[in-house]
Amino acid sequence: VTSETYWCEYAWCGLFGDAVEPGVLLEVEGGLITSASSRTDGSPPGATVLRGVTIPGMANSHSHSFHRALRGRTEGRGDSPTTFWDWRDQMYDLAAKIQPEWFMRLARATFAEMALAGITVVGEFHYLRNDPDGNRYSDPNVMAKALIAAAGDAGIRLTLLDTCYLHGGIGSDGYAAASPPQRRFVDPDAESWAARASNIAGNATTLIGAAVHSVRAVDPVSIALVSQWASDSRSPLHAHVSEQVVENEACESLHTMSPTCVFAEAGAIDERFTAVHGTHLSEQDMRQLGGGRSTVCLCPTTERDLADGVGQAAAVAAAGCELAVGSDSQSVIDLLEEARAIELDQRLTTQRRGHHSPAALLRAATSSGYRSLGWSNGGTLQAGALADFTTLRKDSPRLAGQRISNLLAGIVFSATAADVTNVVVNGKTIVSDGQHLSVEVGLELREALS
Ligand SMILES: [Zn+2]
Repeated sequence: VTSETYWCEYAWCGLFGDAVEPGVLLEVEGGLITSASSRTDGSPPGATVLRGVTIPGMANSHSHSFHRALRGRTEGRGDSPTTFWDWRDQMYDLAAKIQPEWFMRLARATFAEMALAGITVVGEFHYLRNDPDGNRYSDPNVMAKALIAAAGDAGIRLTLLDTCYLHGGIGSDGYAAASPPQRRFVDPDAESWAARASNIAGNATTLIGAAVHSVRAVDPVSIALVSQWASDSRSPLHAHVSEQVVENEACESLHTMSPTCVFAEAGAIDERFTAVHGTHLSEQDMRQLGGGRSTVCLCPTTERDLADGVGQAAAVAAAGCELAVGSDSQSVIDLLEEARAIELDQRLTTQRRGHHSPAALLRAATSSGYRSLGWSNGGTLQAGALADFTTLRKDSPRLAGQRISNLLAGIVFSATAADVTNVVVNGKTIVSDGQHLSVEVGLELREALS
């Protein structure tokens, strides 16, 4: 077992309050932090010096890596307003073309871009699994395995949320069959989803979790089965919930209840459950999710991109939910931007400031995200925590001159992914001096996107 000592010039340990401390010594062994202590008289001999501010590694709780290929390609010219559903057709066109080998290269480059942005764990909401004709590949988990290999190459931790997807949509007369583009996503039924998902093996930095695509794609009986599988395997369960008003209306028309209520009735809502988006939740929905100590994962850069609306983050947190964030459609990969948007979007809709503290916003991008992805000992710098941490320079144009007493607010409200210099995952340095140590990120993105 290798051990390593890191001396952080400054650190925010992710525990209580906004305090950034000078001189924090982290001892790491076997992928865990074994001690975190104050050391203000400089770096001891043999320690790796981390200049700038070290924070817990950031958790990207909701990602579809292949959407990276849509960045900048779905914006139109501003003269023809379109809807979420038009964007979805463009996403389906892309999905139809992707083969396992391209899928792997695109995921590897995208996960490496995440590493450069200080992301140390990603929750990949994975449903692109069948061949272009909708048939299972000879290895039905070939695409899932590509994601696991890609995250391994990029050096980041992965929770593979294998997603149950059965139907093409929901209406007042029931569930529609999958359309041709959706045939790449579907399993025949929830039992065969469970049998297939049970065959995916995790490893030291990969956890297998479950997801329900949405109430549009999975019926209540099947949701209950997926929920039971997650419960039996003690793994996280994620679902897209109330991203669009149309989804709520269609769900009401068939089930006479909201999507959140459908999940609650299926026994899915507890502390392992994460509702992704939760943009259009009712007060009752929030009480239900909060009562279960569930997480709501906001993806503000995607929600603004897709014209979803603004979720009620402050009310959701007040109801007892944990908040997490995700880069989702990858139009931007910068969790600091997602975290500050939680607060800033509330300011726009309420015309008031100060809904969330900087520390609460950064916890959404760190410890709460780790919890939602099933790594309950991640996202803090303390003894016993996963040795995952990210260092940002404090001499960049964004942060230069910032007082230490305001540094956390400066990071949350002004820093960007470009300020990340060093990233450690599972006790191993994967980014140093702002460069990925095993992936040439720009080149691989260019090749994967050409
Ligand atoms: Zn999504």
